[in-house]
Amino acid sequence: MRKITACLLTILGAITPTAISDSATRNFGSYYYVSHYDDQSHQQDYNYYNVVTKEPSKLEQIVEPKTWNRPASNYTFSYLEEDEFGPSNWGALSPSCNGLYQSPVSLAVNRSLFVRKKRPLELWGLQSRPTRITLVNEGGSAAYFFDYRKADHPRLRGGPLKVDYMFYQFHYHLGSEHSLEGQRSTSELHLVFYNSLYESYESAQNQADGIAVIALLYDVLKKDRIDTLNKWTRYLSKVIEEDHEYSIPNYGLFSLSDVTQTTTWPYFSYEGSLTTPPCSETVQWIVVTQRMMMTKSELKKMRQLKGRGGEWVLNSRPNQALNFRRVFLY
Ligand SMILES: [Zn+2]
Repeated sequence: MRKITACLLTILGAITPTAISDSATRNFGSYYYVSHYDDQSHQQDYNYYNVVTKEPSKLEQIVEPKTWNRPASNYTFSYLEEDEFGPSNWGALSPSCNGLYQSPVSLAVNRSLFVRKKRPLELWGLQSRPTRITLVNEGGSAAYFFDYRKADHPRLRGGPLKVDYMFYQFHYHLGSEHSLEGQRSTSELHLVFYNSLYESYESAQNQADGIAVIALLYDVLKKDRIDTLNKWTRYLSKVIEEDHEYSIPNYGLFSLSDVTQTTTWPYFSYEGSLTTPPCSETVQWIVVTQRMMMTKSELKKMRQLKGRGGEWVLNSRPNQALNFRRVFLY
């Protein structure tokens, strides 16, 4: 195992411009602080926001209970443990939520198997321009549904996937769901794809190998000067209320390359579930190890969305047991 880790460090060291010191052999966390920004300020940014991205129980000490302003709508599941259908009681809504192959999980390099011979992960249609993007407030966070001309529809293939998967939508969670090396991030974005053997997401979601999700974890840039790094945050103010929808005007349409930038990052892969009820265990997860950045102002916009759990919604499911699963590092 030690040999594999050492080899891995050498390989990843070659990929990233910043060398990894010997002291990082066990604590691999420093790897995640190298991206587009200098190491020290990124580390500071991370520490600064870490305080609001810890486990939910710690978060509650920071957010005063009275700020939880619950809506009257008849939502079913909740992210608040004290609620009737809080996270540990989702099994009452859907038995799959008590399954052995649930998501999210805690991911760590030294508990993963490194894949040497791999097919590259390809996101075909990364540059495709959609004909429409509809933004929906799905209860405290937003989902983006894309329409494309048939020939332009983005598909994901390669890596751990045996067939092509069609792009369906992306959405985000406030508070990351997966944790990397024991640490959570400020937010996690999920790009959802369904198996191309099926007609639609709905018909694929309960089938074995039905779904593939790319997860991108975000930290917040401490600098105030930069307002926007992610085009997709621009229209959030149009869907403040739960269930509100907004169709992004033509000039604001963007391609998936504006979201993921690339698909050449190293990533963890494992078999798990949807992270909300019905918690179907049909998801091939692809969790990117390289953290993305968002600005303070973007985070503020995200927190303005109302819905499930009220204002300042935390909508990340706590980590689930890995049980008998193996996690692969590509
Ligand atoms: Zn999600």
